[in-house]
Amino acid sequence: MTLAGFMKKISTICIFCIIFFSCDNSLTPAKPIINKGIADKRDVGQSAHDLLSAVKYTRLNIEIQFAPGMRPHDHSVNNLVSFFKNYVYKPAGVTVTLKQVGSIAKAKITTQDADSFALKNRILYTEGNLVSLYIYFADAASTRFWIGGIAYRNTAMVVFEKTIQENTKGAGEADRIKMETGVVEHEAAHLLGLVNNGTAMQIPHEDPSHKFHCSNRNCLMYYAIEAGMVRNPDNSLPLLDANCMRDLKAYKGVE
Ligand SMILES: [Zn+2]
Ligand SMILES: [Zn+2]
Repeated sequence: MTLAGFMKKISTICIFCIIFFSCDNSLTPAKPIINKGIADKRDVGQSAHDLLSAVKYTRLNIEIQFAPGMRPHDHSVNNLVSFFKNYVYKPAGVTVTLKQVGSIAKAKITTQDADSFALKNRILYTEGNLVSLYIYFADAASTRFWIGGIAYRNTAMVVFEKTIQENTKGAGEADRIKMETGVVEHEAAHLLGLVNNGTAMQIPHEDPSHKFHCSNRNCLMYYAIEAGMVRNPDNSLPLLDANCMRDLKAYKGVE
């Protein structure tokens, strides 16, 4: 394999390696800058049950904002909505808002950059019967390592859409949709408390080498889900496995 080929393979494998749960990624500020959206300033996994069940919030809105040229494909958005409809119970509905906003104006960004940007641009916050999720598709890459996205708060994530587009350039629309969908669904599942981070495991299945990820190589929550994609004979997207689904169902509240 050529060096270029090797690097491409490594980068493809890494796209879904979204490892961010260590303490150094905690974004809880010493002094909150604003009180608006205080329910949305907690750490990843801490709103898992509020997102999954209708006990506190009966409605979910997914607020998607994107930098110029970074709009996610409609199929990716539809896939994400279907994912939530499968795994959460929101009798008042699951809705989406899409809006183009500005560039974050940096080639590489930290989760702190994403958080500051969200503070300025996010419109909907969790209140009343609504739990609100915020996703920004950035025209930037991560400063930390080569990844597709990071969930950095209880109801917020950033997707490094520029990285995704660069790595699927020339590969066709289907590959871009697959990568976008894989990234946002993997991150969404972290917000729903997987694995063992806000939603308790019904049966132990956390990867001992990769905290908050599933030990099943074919699961969406495997730390590098690319491996699962390669193994699927039809090259389909990896799905949550039985253990991860069982964990979510235990807190969904209805069946
Ligand atoms: Zn992950
Ligand atoms: Zn799993």
